[in-house]
Amino acid sequence: MDTNIEKLNPQSMWKHFKNICNIPHPSAHTKKLAEHIVAFAKENKIDYTVDKIGNVILRKPATAGYENRKGLVLQAHMDMVPQKNGDVNFDFTKDAIEAYIDGDWVTANGTTLGADDGLGVAAILAVFENKDLKHGNLEALITMDEETGMYGAFAVKEDELKGEVLINLDSETEGDIYVGCAGGVDLVGKIAYKKEDTPANFQAIEIDITNLKGGHSGMEIILQRANSNKVLFRILNTLNNKFDIRIAEANGGNMRNAIPREAKGLFVVAKENVKNVIAEANEAIAKIMDEFKAVEPEMNLVVSESSKTPSKVMDKDAQNKLIWTIEAIFNGTDRMSDEMSGLVETSSNMGIITQNEDHFEINFLIRSSVDSAKDELAERMSSVFRLAGAECNLEGGYHGWKPNMESPILKSTLEMYNELFGKTPEIRGIHAGLECGILGGIFPNWDMISFGPTICYPHSPDEKVEIKSTERFFKLIEAVIENAPTK
Ligand SMILES: [Zn+2]
Repeated sequence: MDTNIEKLNPQSMWKHFKNICNIPHPSAHTKKLAEHIVAFAKENKIDYTVDKIGNVILRKPATAGYENRKGLVLQAHMDMVPQKNGDVNFDFTKDAIEAYIDGDWVTANGTTLGADDGLGVAAILAVFENKDLKHGNLEALITMDEETGMYGAFAVKEDELKGEVLINLDSETEGDIYVGCAGGVDLVGKIAYKKEDTPANFQAIEIDITNLKGGHSGMEIILQRANSNKVLFRILNTLNNKFDIRIAEANGGNMRNAIPREAKGLFVVAKENVKNVIAEANEAIAKIMDEFKAVEPEMNLVVSESSKTPSKVMDKDAQNKLIWTIEAIFNGTDRMSDEMSGLVETSSNMGIITQNEDHFEINFLIRSSVDSAKDELAERMSSVFRLAGAECNLEGGYHGWKPNMESPILKSTLEMYNELFGKTPEIRGIHAGLECGILGGIFPNWDMISFGPTICYPHSPDEKVEIKSTERFFKLIEAVIENAPTK
């Protein structure tokens, strides 16, 4: 196993990455790495601050003759996702990542590598160390705990940075330049209910929904996969329209940011109706299976008689409100981006339905690259809860990053890429949260782009980074800095 990654090009960056691998830095444990960066700054006489939450900021004044350039802020996150193979004995808070060269790639022995985003941090240190590089006013923002909720980015204060242009170094496909991301907000609706005795001579039926594809509620919402919560209540609505059904239990999904893959319902009907209800449900299921056969061929929808007749069911009025609200409320892709073809602008994911003692809680994640569009969809969806006389709250909103095709830093980065490598990079947006969205909310006038080396399988023990792409990545950073737009 060749662990001499410091001999790779550019050596100035790989040397720092090797050091970073030797300092444990999973999310929530980035203090030692922050101290390492501070020691680096002191040694190189670089101005620095560590803010209250633990972000590190580095500053270098403009080189003589470059004072008229727009100030640049290089940005990367300190923390890494700690994942290891089941058979590996490894403590992310104590052990050094064992990075090694595997052909054209660098990977780690049984664990995540932390190229996401350790290589971004290493690139920043190499840039700040390079005394020959010509640059305008230069700052670096190295954030803590991006992976667990972007807590570092949220805590950045407006007066800590003077730059006008942000270059985020946390993308994962070299040759792609990112210019947009989604903001998000959680919508939490609550529908209260009362428990009533199960009517006499009623019998239980259960609906079991499994084996949907699910996926990331942002990146994969465009694929129009089935949502198990929606499917469950579509069947319940069909039955509720025709029969006197009484719901006892309904639950589905477990993460607001994942498309739900499973849901379960338990209800009762008069004994003499059991056969007809099951037949009706199977008819509904056949239609749903047919609609989704291309995207959900493995979907498993089963309706069956149940031996566990519940003693209590929910009151009919609340039951209708619950069914109609879930039927009416929006889920899926709401609008595509006008700026970038193929990019989802606004979406909603009904992630979780949880039954509590006296109410159902329904959790959504609404995303959009356009803040006002996100607010509008949230308002539209809240209105459904209001119509039902139900409680509804918005929680934890964060900003999106609307693509700007006229961006000066995008223009100069495209020119530099073309000059260096003789081709034009792809311009992309992502329907998920990035620190750029959060930071753009704090610094609304920033011109921003994001790029990085090619990293495969981040957040998994298979994480690996393509060596050649790291060379191009670093060349591009230095070229973009030396050719920064003028003020
Ligand atoms: Zn990252």
